[in-house]
Amino acid sequence: MARRPLIAGNWKMHGGRADLDKLRMIREAARRQICETTDVVVCPPATLLAHAFEALEPTVAVGGQDCHFAASGPYTGSISAPMLADSGARYVILGHSERRSGCGEDDALVARKVAAAWSAGLVAIVCVGETEAEHAAGRTLAVLREELTGSLPSGATGDNTVIAYEPIWAIGAGRTPTPDEIEKIHHAMREHLSHRIGEPAARAVRLLYGGSVKPENAGEILAIRNVDGALVGGASLNAEDFIAICRSVPEPAAAPPRGGLE
Ligand code: PEP
Repeated sequence: MARRPLIAGNWKMHGGRADLDKLRMIREAARRQICETTDVVVCPPATLLAHAFEALEPTVAVGGQDCHFAASGPYTGSISAPMLADSGARYVILGHSERRSGCGEDDALVARKVAAAWSAGLVAIVCVGETEAEHAAGRTLAVLREELTGSLPSGATGDNTVIAYEPIWAIGAGRTPTPDEIEKIHHAMREHLSHRIGEPAARAVRLLYGGSVKPENAGEILAIRNVDGALVGGASLNAEDFIAICRSVPEPAAAPPRGGLE
């Protein structure tokens, strides 16, 4: 990995104050070892953001799981990007498949949220991924091209954007694409970004893999060329598992190039 790897934990709608000890464990492990080589962020539910900030920062970053496209206004129940930043968050997950399918978010809305995140100084972790049917139909690269094109406003850089490839059929399912598939897809995403934002910027954008990453498969997945880290759902709720995944980040590995999206 040429870029500094990033391991991101997505707690989804799990966790309360009783779970803050997990965050302290993660911070201590990161402080002792992990943070020398790897960036780590935990994205708890919004109710825990301030507590998580106290428990984790500055060693481990805090992130939100979504934000509104507006900075403020009459949007009951929503949280804006400046509010996330005010709570101490440095990252925000946007376009997760659970929001695309469960909350009707399309690429255009995700792009507006990404722009809002950038304006607030947050790093957007933009999620893309195909359904099982699209995967079976061989449409993975076409779907990713469409989602990347639609969800990323112009201005993406390695400093403001992380892309997470999350095949929807792998999320929480206990199965993953083969290492060969992941390599091909990540290379294709890198090529697509190069066309879009130029090669130097594309090289700096971290491409995460997400979907059933666990301590048992993290080493193999994180060693794949163009995989710059992982977005971890279920396993991030267990501090020991999450720490083990963070510790699975390998030294850079050489591998041959693959075909691109364009
Ligand atoms: C996710 O939903 O972002 C995710 C990666 O989930 P899991 O690790 O549980 O598959």
